[in-house]
Amino acid sequence: ARREQLSMAIYEQQLEEEHLTRLRLLADLKTALADNDGQLQMHYQPKIFSSTMQATRFEALIRWIHPQQGFVPPDLFIPFAEQAGLIGAVTDWVVEAVVIQIAQWHQQGFNAQVAINLSAKDLSRPHLLDHINRLLVQNQLPANSLSFEITESEIMRDPEEANQLLLKFRKNGFELAIDDFGTGYSSLSQLKHMPVTELKIDKSFVLQLANLENDKIIVQSTISLAHSFNLKVVAEGVEDEASLALLRSWGCDWIQGFFISKPLPAKEVLPWVNNYSQSIDPTLQRATTQG
Ligand code: C2E
Ligand code: MG
Ligand code: MG
Ligand code: MG
Repeated sequence: ARREQLSMAIYEQQLEEEHLTRLRLLADLKTALADNDGQLQMHYQPKIFSSTMQATRFEALIRWIHPQQGFVPPDLFIPFAEQAGLIGAVTDWVVEAVVIQIAQWHQQGFNAQVAINLSAKDLSRPHLLDHINRLLVQNQLPANSLSFEITESEIMRDPEEANQLLLKFRKNGFELAIDDFGTGYSSLSQLKHMPVTELKIDKSFVLQLANLENDKIIVQSTISLAHSFNLKVVAEGVEDEASLALLRSWGCDWIQGFFISKPLPAKEVLPWVNNYSQSIDPTLQRATTQG
């Protein structure tokens, strides 16, 4: 019994430490958002159009360099921010940073289309669309310079509410992707009703694609399923040439992954694009392009 008591005490102490770590992290995140002193940054990962291999789209991914702890992964702090009601502030910050960046690229003659990740809680914030539209107008950018990604599991928490709000985004001219598709247990009949334009196949099915027969079956049939619903398909997590070749042969529309590029700091994007576009096979560039 003594030993049980002891392990219980240790367990409680651990819980308390976790709780404190989380509270401290949240307080630091609030400060980082308010101060806007460079701790938070956006990185941009290219998505290439599979038939021409051109890179015109990017996914915006937040990076937090904590002054004491260094890099804190978004997979860690985004869920905290969601639970603590801080995700709205994060998303507003992200949207602003991204729109300003796209405007800067436009001035340099580079028309990038950038996807922003949204949380389910963002969808129920009535001011988000206004905030986005105001920023676009201020920076004289068209709606199609932005698109949004939301995970399948977040849509599935309350599909009806999510679909209504997603529809508003569509009416404002924004393309929408279901992120991490294949991990959220949505049924095919529900897919039919989702007002989205794109499916992103979760990287867990893609990372080992060239080696795993089951993943090949899943990915290939997801591509044809998506196409039969008139949805474009993106594969994320493409890490090798063999997987890229398979995805292209199956008609996957867009490819994203470390094999093409890791997420890049904003200032490295244009140099990367210039360098990359010279490396594309010129016979591919003559193929039809798509915006
Ligand atoms: P996600 O939206 O599914 O983003 C894709 C993640 O896969 C990114 O991780 C990206 O760096 C990683 N990735 C891309 N290609 C490869 C690859 O070839 N191999 C491997 N192993 N990984 C690859 P990251 O940047 O750590 O972001 C993790 C998640 O955090 C994102 O998943 C998204 O759910 C969330 N997140 C990131 N930025 C934001 C943001 O600005 N707002 C919100 N709400 N969530 C964000
Ligand atoms: Mg995403
Ligand atoms: Mg994903
Ligand atoms: Mg994810």
